[in-house]
Amino acid sequence: MSKKKTHASKKSANAALPEAHVQTPTVSEQDARQAVETLLRWAGEDPLREGLRDTPKRVVSAYRDWFSGYLSDPADYLRRTFEEVEGYDEMIVLRDIEFESHCEHHMAPIIGRAHVGYLPTNKVVGISKLARVVDGYARRFQVQEKLTAQIARCINDVLKPRGVGVVIEAIHQCMTTRGVHKRGVSMITSKMLGDFREDARTRNEFLRFIDISNT
Ligand SMILES: [Zn+2]
Repeated sequence: MSKKKTHASKKSANAALPEAHVQTPTVSEQDARQAVETLLRWAGEDPLREGLRDTPKRVVSAYRDWFSGYLSDPADYLRRTFEEVEGYDEMIVLRDIEFESHCEHHMAPIIGRAHVGYLPTNKVVGISKLARVVDGYARRFQVQEKLTAQIARCINDVLKPRGVGVVIEAIHQCMTTRGVHKRGVSMITSKMLGDFREDARTRNEFLRFIDISNT
């Protein structure tokens, strides 16, 4: 395989794109820790006992990681790096992008994989950028349908490709560990835009590439 050129051409943000919606926390870390301590008490625990003394601090720190998506605008990842592609206009697919998210109904983990494809016009992004877009939306409170649509919409709006396809398969722990307790149930959602929606051949090519039935 030939070595990839390392000098990606950089362009500044497109002025026509909407402003980034980046949230800055309005609740202090101390208040967040207090909330965790309250939940521990509510569950029947003594937050002051040895093993739990640092738990609120650890939980808040884990939350900062799990919900770091609020601190960035995923579209920025796509705006920053455009590579000229010498007329390459075939489908680009990144499959099996693992992600962790949390459902907005129970704040329980959603563990899954995303498959992303697009048909470029005149610009493509480095493949790691697509994974960052997935993470940028996954690391928020989500419902899977919304996550799928947001990823597709972001790629569509920034890269303006001929089409975008996003398929997500995920396990919702609010369903496997509580409620109906159904293990091994996964949910599949898809969002097709442009040629992926209009043209069955394009859509089928994408679905063949990601081949989710065999993974
Ligand atoms: Zn849920």
